Amino acid sequence: MVGRLTLWLGLAANVAVVNMLLVVSPYPGSSLPFVLGRFFGLHAAMILALQLLLIARLPWFDRRIGMDRLTAWHRWTGFTLLWTIVAHATCMVVGLAMMSGKTLAGQVVDLATNWEGVLWAMFAAGLLLSIGIVSARFARRRLSYETWHLIHLGTYAGVLLALTHQIAVGTTFTASPFARAYWWTLWGVALGAVLAGRVLLPLWRNLRHRFRVTRVVPESDTVVSIYITGHRLDRLPAQAGQFFLWRFLSRDRWWQANPFSLSMAPDGRTLRLTAKAVGTGSAALRQVRVGTRVFAEGPYGAFTAMHRTRPATLLIAGGVGVTPIRSLLENLEGHVVVLYRVRSTADAVLADELRALADARGAELRLVTGPSRPVPPTGPFLGPDHLLELVPDIRERDVFVCGPAGMTSAVLRSLRQLHVPQRQVHTERFGLAG
Ligand SMILES: Cc1cc2nc3c(=O)[nH]c(=O)nc-3n(C[C@H](O)[C@H](O)[C@H](O)COP(=O)(O)OP(=O)(O)OC[C@H]3O[C@@H](n4cnc5c(N)ncnc54)[C@H](O)[C@@H]3O)c2cc1C
Repeated sequence: MVGRLTLWLGLAANVAVVNMLLVVSPYPGSSLPFVLGRFFGLHAAMILALQLLLIARLPWFDRRIGMDRLTAWHRWTGFTLLWTIVAHATCMVVGLAMMSGKTLAGQVVDLATNWEGVLWAMFAAGLLLSIGIVSARFARRRLSYETWHLIHLGTYAGVLLALTHQIAVGTTFTASPFARAYWWTLWGVALGAVLAGRVLLPLWRNLRHRFRVTRVVPESDTVVSIYITGHRLDRLPAQAGQFFLWRFLSRDRWWQANPFSLSMAPDGRTLRLTAKAVGTGSAALRQVRVGTRVFAEGPYGAFTAMHRTRPATLLIAGGVGVTPIRSLLENLEGHVVVLYRVRSTADAVLADELRALADARGAELRLVTGPSRPVPPTGPFLGPDHLLELVPDIRERDVFVCGPAGMTSAVLRSLRQLHVPQRQVHTERFGLAG
């Protein structure tokens, strides 16, 4: 709540300042499309700065809002940004053509050749538009995560080109010392946040902790646990339920980083991840050797006890979604019920550990077995009636849900039908890229 409120208040304050700057520095003799062009241009600059903040992975925001939600906002803000850029460019060309008497094509050529920084801005807009198209669902599905990510990094070039454009021709940028101070502060904060959250903090943490693989333990035919140690892990601010982006620095894998949750609560000496083989990266984890150095970015995620609102908890895991649930069970206080949804008991990885933990803590553990796509869809499996039957005081509990997309959505639907208050429901989705 505090994280969201800070973000919304910050956004509202910036919208107010940007519009104030627009009003106090009018452009003499401008046409309506030109005024609109400036409006869209300034808002595009502000949205671009917001975009950077959303993916900066600053721990303070990440712990409070969660990377899945921040990434989803980043995605939708990105599409808003693209339309704002298109509106800015269109209105500017039309507005300037009306003021100069040139044709639209003539105005574009004039802008590209005679206006400092505009040609670069055209490149920036083209780059951001292309990245936006690649990020649309239909194109995104056809690319591997790594290819998409590499292309996405081109955004930073777009940001720098956009910034030079704003400095060169942005009339509000140079209108007053206050305007200059505002824009430099905005860009400084946004770029500084990215540098700190994406580069400096991960580098510092990895230099400090020097993570290394100590054990590789197969849990089933398709699931493997990897134990990792490092220096001064007691100083790593990781919590049960969080995840890291793990990069195993072997010759054949160093270029690939994948998110995996901690499947054991961090104890200051060891971290553990448990991964199911779904693609080439996760399948190769079985071959990781003891002693391999690891570059870990994190801890990330808001799927933690910090967000509890009630004394009692219900944990719902589906398949390998059990990993953060297993670590949460270890350090939650109060009465806990665990529902673990799997196809059969043989598929229930970490079930023995869950049982031992549940016994030790006086928690209730129920395995819910059955086909993964029951008919009807929510069937007896975690539909509202089933949930109420299993956990009659469900409305009095915080509910943490982690599992495959279909199961998670079905459970969330059930919780809505049962009128479990939204603030008591917490989810971790095993997918960030939209
Ligand atoms: C927050 C989070 C926590 C997760 N925790 C676990 C866990 O504890 N155990 C487990 O088995 N699985 C977990 N996953 C899922 C796991 O990350 C993917 O199954 C794994 O990355 C697949 O990689 P791959 O190379 O095998 O398959 P690929 O075929 O290369 O990838 C399959 C899909 O996985 C996702 N993915 C791959 N790499 C990344 C990345 N670097 N960042 C974001 N998404 C990526 C993409 O959506 C991609 O399309 C988690 C995912 C997320 C987002």
